[in-house]
Amino acid sequence: MSEQQKNDFTEWYLKTIQQAELMAYSPVRGSIIFRPDGFELWEHIQEEFNKFLKTQDIRNAYFPMLIPKSFFMKEADHIEGFAPELPWVTEVGDEKLDEPLALRPTSETMIGSAFSDWINSYRDLPYEINQWANVFRWEKKTLPFLRTSEFLWQEGHTAHANESDARERTMGILDEYARLAEEFLAIPVYKGQKTPSERFAGAVDTYSIEAMMQDGKAVQAGTSHYLGTKFAEAFDITYLTKENKHTHVHTTSWGMSTRLLGSLIMTHGDEKGLVFPPTVAPTQIVLMPVGPWKKNPAIMEKLDELFAKFKKAGYRVRLDDTDNSPGYKFNEWELKGACLRIECGPRDLENGHVMVKVRDLDEKNTVTFAELEDYVAEQLQIMPKRLLEKARARNKANEHYDINTLAELKAHIEKSNAEGTVPGFVLVGWDGSEETEAKIKEETGFTTRNIPFEVPMEKEFDLVSGKPAKYTLWIARAY
Ligand code: AMP
Repeated sequence: MSEQQKNDFTEWYLKTIQQAELMAYSPVRGSIIFRPDGFELWEHIQEEFNKFLKTQDIRNAYFPMLIPKSFFMKEADHIEGFAPELPWVTEVGDEKLDEPLALRPTSETMIGSAFSDWINSYRDLPYEINQWANVFRWEKKTLPFLRTSEFLWQEGHTAHANESDARERTMGILDEYARLAEEFLAIPVYKGQKTPSERFAGAVDTYSIEAMMQDGKAVQAGTSHYLGTKFAEAFDITYLTKENKHTHVHTTSWGMSTRLLGSLIMTHGDEKGLVFPPTVAPTQIVLMPVGPWKKNPAIMEKLDELFAKFKKAGYRVRLDDTDNSPGYKFNEWELKGACLRIECGPRDLENGHVMVKVRDLDEKNTVTFAELEDYVAEQLQIMPKRLLEKARARNKANEHYDINTLAELKAHIEKSNAEGTVPGFVLVGWDGSEETEAKIKEETGFTTRNIPFEVPMEKEFDLVSGKPAKYTLWIARAY
């Protein structure tokens, strides 16, 4: 982390995303405007996830945003969990509606009701749908992208003949979320199961991918739920088995949201601004003339030619031929996270080369015109892996395994504060009680992240009660 990030990471984040024109505030508390660069990040995530959905024969559909109150009342845990965050439409013009309509926070109820009409026989299963949509959750504390009152997401909803098929889908999706985070966004994640108190309202089991930001705080970056037959029972979703028996389906749901944009920025950004892997970067290549280029039209001719070539090859390329000084242009494109900057001045042209700067590396390289295309392709290909490795190494340094009591956790936090280091993720033993989770939260602000599938080290005793641990889990402060 740079000094600026160390001093106040949230301030750095808020300043950067606005200056880089990713977002702007709206007049409605907690809801934001996605400016084109911000929205484009989301579009690339959509493209990538849609490719996966196609391989799975999961089809996109769209369901209405307004959900009748009666639908919510059908599944008790679901309404109890979501009630405090639900905005309602209660009147139109001067007329009160007979039934209040909720702005969807998620669509299990609407889709459950549709599934009950569409699913009849074992031949209809699995029934698997995804929707890209906006959802509303009136959050008390908000932060652009990471926690907003209205956000964009995908929500998948599937129905299966039995528990094992449904669980397989739940886990398969979690694997894909992890792959997308790591390979596509270069964000390393921790896969695991949520504790009951952190479960999705109405789920039997919730699994998550958790990411660690540069300041050591966690982001729950995606969740996949096994819902058992709870929604099937609430919405009467049954099918006729081969033996002619009416049976409830087992359902799943899973979602990832524009929170991923916040994770991306907080994972890779530096003192100069945004750093994006080329997989999602709105600008992969920026070309610019430098030196006294106006007196030498051949420079722009060459850059125009390169621009056309890169554009034709499918790169997201821009040409900055404004009158701004080179220093200004460098800063602007570094702030916006352009992956490669290609400069050409009179002497470069004469010598048949350009200067190339890779956003996350310090040095500038001389590359001949002949080698340029291969160089660009190679640099863009290796950049995501390098960013992922860098983030992985940082995570490793911020993981703590040797904290065994609440007093030790408090001392660790105090020490981090005093030394200006980050408290990070702490691996602890848990006896399975809600009291322990509550106590940790109350006294340190740390929350349970998940019970990792790959436990780096089994813990013997509960952090708070000292009783034998039933689980080993990650705790951290979270966004
Ligand atoms: P859930 O349906 O609660 O499991 O949410 C699915 C995913 O949406 C979560 O794992 C988060 O990554 C994301 N998410 C939840 N609430 C918000 C919010 N207020 N703003 C942005 N993303 C959210």
